[in-house]
Amino acid sequence: MHSEVNPWSNNQTVDVDRLFADFGIEPVSEVARRLPEVPSFMRRGIVVGHRDYNLVADAIQNRTPFHVLTGFMPSGLPHLGHLMVMKEVVWHVQQGGNGYVAVADREAHAVRGISWEKCREYGKEYLKALYALGFEGTTYYQSKNDRLKDLAFEASTKVNFSELAAIYGFGPETSLSHAVSVITQVADILFPQLDAGPAPTIVPVGLDQDPHIRLTRDVAYKLRMFTVEDRGDHISVRSKNAPEEALEAVHRAFPGSKKYAGHVDVAGLPQRQVEDAVREIEIAHGGFGFYLPSSTYHIFMPGLQGGKMSSSVPESSFGFYESEKSIKKKVMAAKTGGRMTLEEQKRLGGEPDACSVYLLNLFHMLEDDAELADLVRRCESGELTCGQCKKETLERVNAFLRELRDKMDAVEHLAEEV
Ligand code: SF4
Repeated sequence: MHSEVNPWSNNQTVDVDRLFADFGIEPVSEVARRLPEVPSFMRRGIVVGHRDYNLVADAIQNRTPFHVLTGFMPSGLPHLGHLMVMKEVVWHVQQGGNGYVAVADREAHAVRGISWEKCREYGKEYLKALYALGFEGTTYYQSKNDRLKDLAFEASTKVNFSELAAIYGFGPETSLSHAVSVITQVADILFPQLDAGPAPTIVPVGLDQDPHIRLTRDVAYKLRMFTVEDRGDHISVRSKNAPEEALEAVHRAFPGSKKYAGHVDVAGLPQRQVEDAVREIEIAHGGFGFYLPSSTYHIFMPGLQGGKMSSSVPESSFGFYESEKSIKKKVMAAKTGGRMTLEEQKRLGGEPDACSVYLLNLFHMLEDDAELADLVRRCESGELTCGQCKKETLERVNAFLRELRDKMDAVEHLAEEV
């Protein structure tokens, strides 16, 4: 594949470097190699980083349980910009993950003032698209999920306002409903483990969502009764807030272990095995036994016009049911990496890295790596004109959307049943 692909281009590169350096996000390339099949979004540098993805890679490899979840805020119709996360979730479901999708209607209502009726209408479109792309699993609306609300309340006991101020910039004027929607999202991420039992959980997000992942991992940690640490010659199981009977149960579970005030030392067993047993004891004593959620981070596809892709900039993206005429106009007007004149284009070739049309192909429209490499070759050699390239891309877009819409129509009943 083209080695200089840099779809995040100028400003996003800075964010990637800063997030990696400041917050300990790991590059995804190494852990991706452990997967039986490396998905195109990892091969192509769209997913760039992760936290604890090794737990999920192991689960995929060993065929042990894991969850995958995402949430969509139904503040408008789904569009091109939502497709990457949808594909990542579907891919993980296909690798054996238990799929969960939350429709964040409480957030859309609280933060964007969307009516409940509209939330339902938009939410249905997101779910249709997901099912059409191959999603299987559990979907819910936040406002209709009582167990989620109880979990959110429990989570709220571990977060205070100064943390919310530091992470989200909450001030004295911030509506309390914003805090409720933040904690509901924390609960969304932990919900699969409450619903189907503790297991590694992957949350594919954009790089801008990392503060939220950090908050949720912090809450998950605080909701645990025990920590399990490898001390070299033994494993130390420490009580954070476990009842004495639970600590006693840990001691009994490991013959030969030594019990002290607040901790039990276990020797001669692998850490994973101790962790699993402790998790079960925790649950038997009313705890959650949560794994800290894992995350992957993708960069964003720029808008077709070259700026940011956003629902508020119609020419930057297109909806799944948008008319062919309107999509044609947007693709044909997209920012390219072409030269000023045809003569220059033929002589110097185009610059795919700076081209929205190329990125549209890289992100979504050309699944085959060889075809993508061929597009780059034809562009850089000057063989391909931008006009022709746009036409070919438009055909791919139309074919993709025709198929997606047919499938979305066919799965409408699934989205209704939620
Ligand atoms: Fe972009 Fe295609 Fe033009 Fe190359 S030929 S710059 S990929 S539109």
